[in-house]
Order: sequence, then C-alpha cells, then structure tokens
Amino acid sequence: MKKDTKFVASGRSKEWTRGAVNPAVVRASTVVFDSVSEMKKATQQRHSKTLFYGRRGTSTAFAFQDAMNELEGGVGCALYPSGTAAISGSLLSFLQAGDHLLVVDNVYEPTRDLCDTLLSRYGIETTYYDPLIGADIEALIQPNTKVIYLESPGSLTMEVQDVPAITHVARAHGILTMLDNTWASPVNLQPFELGVDVSIQAATKYVVGHSDVMLGTATTTAEHWDQLRENSYLLGQCTSPDDLYLALRGIRTLGVRMKQHQKNALELAYWLAKRADVDHVRHPALATCPGHEHFIRDFSGSNGLFSFVLKKGNQAGINAMLDGMEHFKIGFSWGGFESLILGHMPEHIAHLRSVTDWQQTGPLIRVHIGLEDTQDLIEDLDRGLARLAEHL
Ligand SMILES: *Cc1c(COP(=O)(O)O)cnc(C)c1O
Repeated sequence: MKKDTKFVASGRSKEWTRGAVNPAVVRASTVVFDSVSEMKKATQQRHSKTLFYGRRGTSTAFAFQDAMNELEGGVGCALYPSGTAAISGSLLSFLQAGDHLLVVDNVYEPTRDLCDTLLSRYGIETTYYDPLIGADIEALIQPNTKVIYLESPGSLTMEVQDVPAITHVARAHGILTMLDNTWASPVNLQPFELGVDVSIQAATKYVVGHSDVMLGTATTTAEHWDQLRENSYLLGQCTSPDDLYLALRGIRTLGVRMKQHQKNALELAYWLAKRADVDHVRHPALATCPGHEHFIRDFSGSNGLFSFVLKKGNQAGINAMLDGMEHFKIGFSWGGFESLILGHMPEHIAHLRSVTDWQQTGPLIRVHIGLEDTQDLIEDLDRGLARLAEHL
C-alpha cells in the first residue's frame, strides 16, 4: 500500500468502525464481563487489543495504534497524554539507576531538562553529543551506556543527524536507540528502516494538525514492545478517546497537509535565502542546513518548520518584529494549520547546548509555515524584518 492510501485506510478495520467510515469514540473506565471466566479470559489477553480496563484503551485507541503502526512500520504503539510524556515514558521504560544515556546536544529543551533533573536524580547519567557526530559516537560509549537518544532535525538549530551511522554503532554494542521523529511525522521518515528501536512522536504537532490536542506516541519493534508497553502501563499512561478520535481525523489529511506545508515553507525559505539581511536558512532541504546530505538521503520530504539566522539584530528588534506580525502568531508548538514565529538571541541558543558551540552572532528566527497564502506570509515577514532593522 502506498503512503497516501495508508493515510486513508489505516486504523479502519471493521472491528473498530463497525461499518461506519470512522471508528467510534468509546469511553470506558470499567469494562463489565458476562462471567468470571470471561473476566479471566480478558485478563489473560489484556496485552492485546481487547477490552479489559479503560487504562489499557478501548477500540478508539486500538484503531489509532493500528494506524500509527501501519504508518511508521512498527508492531506496537504506546500512547501518552503528550509528546513529553512519550519521551519520559520511553526513557523510563528502558533505563535504570547506574545506566548511562547519550543525548543529542540540540535536543528539545524539556527533554534536556528531564535528563538533567529527574533522570539524574534517579541515578541515570547523561552525556550530550554533537548532532553531526555520526559513527564517531562510538568513542562516547561506556560499558553502562544503555540508550542513545536522537532527534533529527534537532529543535531550533535543525542539524540533521546521520541516523543510520548511529544506529549501526548502537546495534554493534547492544544499545537501544530512540528517535524523536516529530519533525518528519509519520510521513517523511521510516525510522525502523534506519535501524531505530523506538520512534517517538509529539502527535500534538502534525498528526493532530489543528493545535487542539496534546498527544504522544512511542512506536517500536516486536523485540521491545513488551517492555515499552508494560512499563508505560505501570507509569499509568493513558489517553482520552475523544483526543484519539481527533488524532485519527488528523491522519486522514496528514499527507495533503504535509505536501502543502512543504510547498509553502520551501517558497518562504528560498525567498529568505536571497535576502541580504539573512545570514543563512536552516531548512533541511537547503544546502545551508548542517546535515543537509542526511536529509537528502533519508527523508522523503519536508514540512512547514524551519529556522533562519539573521546577520544582525537585538532583542528590541526581535520584539518589534514579532509584536507587529499579522499572520504569524507568537506561540510555542507547531504542526497546526497556522503560521507561528519565535525569535532567539544567540546567547539563548548557546545556553540550550552544552558540548557544541553556537557561533552565530545574529538572532535565530524559527517559523512554522502554515496553510495561508504564501504571498500574505512573505509580505508579513518582509514588514517584520523592516521593523527589526529599525532597531539596528
Ligand atoms: C513539541 C515537541 C515535543 C513535545 O510535545 P508535547 O506534546 O508538547 O509535549 C517533543 N519533541 C519535539 C521535537 C517537539 O517539537
């Protein structure tokens, strides 16, 4: 089945839809059984897609899990109430006191905070590594290294990792790899084909796609599914069937949305790349993005999220630019239908990393390009950059 067909067909087995087009929203805490023996049978099968207790999910969850497995190519999908919960749930499922963890230096800020606070308190030591390290990661491996954590492209600065080089080294040492695959979404990268063991999605972003649900997933292979599922269950992770219904609805248009986000963002990226006030554009599809060659090799497309670095600018200029934007809204998150913008001075970017230097002197602007008309977005950015320049 081709991908566009999968967006339509996945998670829609008759068992979940009962003849309607979409699976029903099935709410449950308690599930009632016809007899003691039926209850016993359900208990024995509680790991599979059977109604047992609400926390294990209902048919709405099973439909969404089927869809995510089909799209990402995994065999099991654990569900979490946010992307951040998927990250902590995955790490806590595979690590224990005394373990060592390798984490990419441009990782999503809350992931770094988790490693430096809670995981550290639990006796798990983290070493950060250069996003462009590739096979040289081998030199950082210790006898107690249990997990290598990747995010590609990484948050804000967008370096694209050499995922297969790292998973190859990890396999040779019996180390588990996890990838925050949110940027690619289930559309543009097949994590298991690149040797990744656990693929994490902030489904909050493109899967849901409408900025109205918090949701996370961790998809994995047959080898690791029991451990991920049972430990996440012990952590009490579960999700609302209403949210899962919206996420399933999001999947139906994921392919077409991503194509339009990609088209719009590339148009904006090329327009920015030609400007005299822009130092360079960090869009994985452009050669000026570090790790661009890995993007070309491993990804089947891009999306609406990228950054660009200005030659000059100060905080007052960033504030004037952002405060006056018409179509771009100031906000965290991304992956919805609307355009968003954030701006950071270089000191802030440098502060978010610990083993790689940030040598840029101008501000970094991160944009999420939504589904608006690109001419409106270009004019909005053009006026914004003029406001920023007034403060130079
Ligand atoms: C937003 C984001 C997350 C966290 O997702 P939430 O649902 O907001 O908790 C994780 N990783 C990346 C790369 C993200 O952009």
